[in-house]
Amino acid sequence: MKALSLAKLPELFSLVASKEALYIPADDGAGSARFTRYTEGLEMTDKLNTVRSAKDFFFPQTENLVDFKLKGKEIEISDPRTEHEDFVLFGVRACDARSFQILDKVFLVDPVDTYYQSRREHGTVVTLACTKPEETCFCSVFGIDAAAPEGDARCFIEGETVYFEALTGKGEAFLETVSPLLTDSDDSAVKAQQEKTREILQKLPLKNLSLEGFGAENLLKLFDSEKWAELSESCLGCGTCTFVCPTCQCYDIRDFDTGNGVKRFRCWDSCMYSDFTKMAHGNPRVSQLERFRQRFMHKLVYFPANNDGEYGCVGCGRCLAKCPISMNIVKVAKALEGEVR
Ligand code: SF4
Ligand code: SF4
Repeated sequence: MKALSLAKLPELFSLVASKEALYIPADDGAGSARFTRYTEGLEMTDKLNTVRSAKDFFFPQTENLVDFKLKGKEIEISDPRTEHEDFVLFGVRACDARSFQILDKVFLVDPVDTYYQSRREHGTVVTLACTKPEETCFCSVFGIDAAAPEGDARCFIEGETVYFEALTGKGEAFLETVSPLLTDSDDSAVKAQQEKTREILQKLPLKNLSLEGFGAENLLKLFDSEKWAELSESCLGCGTCTFVCPTCQCYDIRDFDTGNGVKRFRCWDSCMYSDFTKMAHGNPRVSQLERFRQRFMHKLVYFPANNDGEYGCVGCGRCLAKCPISMNIVKVAKALEGEVR
């Protein structure tokens, strides 16, 4: 394990930023935190997590896919992509780090999404262990250990010291870059911190959320539950829950006529929207109940059924904090518990 005095963290940031783009979670001046490109003087937020997850860096909210230009009767097609720069995403929490594995299962399987793949290849994820999880956190339900996050490298801020550990080749390269600032250290302070954090995690109110029975074997029972009507009744279809979610991955592809050609772009979409899945013949999900049910069935039943039991949720708690009607995946799971007992 390597160590750095906390007072020297800005020095480490400067060193990294002199070599490649660095993003850290920073206050946005409006009471929230977001990942921001590091420039001299930018400080890490004290907040536990950013409002928007770190998925933006690999799956941005909008991106151009291809450009078309008419030349007489010919259509010229060009790829607007330029080579991505290498970047470091520093201070990612354990829940968001796990979300990348879930997104990989969507974008990196055949046919591989090369837009996403390229960003994944260029990004190094340095995670930060949690020490003060909040009451809305329930990552442990999904087997995530907030005290020992995954990533290319991870760090632990304990007292006046930051401890670092590499977990992959990219993580080792990151530590190599900042090695002039690091010293060798044992892991006793980190072990003590992890023990304390795990005690807190054990006491969190949502720790015992049960997803037993949320499998393909009970798909129809869950799908046909009468509970959906009551659960979805007040849903505004605003899509906030999908936009803050680190694992939501639905998108739309549209063409924009610039007057000088056409830009084909994709942008995040939401299964909560009334025109989602709308096709020439109409929409197969005509009610908010059906749209609402789709979101939660996908995360809790369809995704794990197709991905070796991995749920499409990491328990980050963002939808618990942000839904304007206080509806969320925890309330849904609790309401449906009785259906699979
Ligand atoms: S569940 Fe909440 S956040 Fe999601 S679409 Fe409905 S009202 Fe909006
Ligand atoms: S469903 Fe909610 S708690 Fe789960 S990962 Fe998405 S935003 Fe986080």
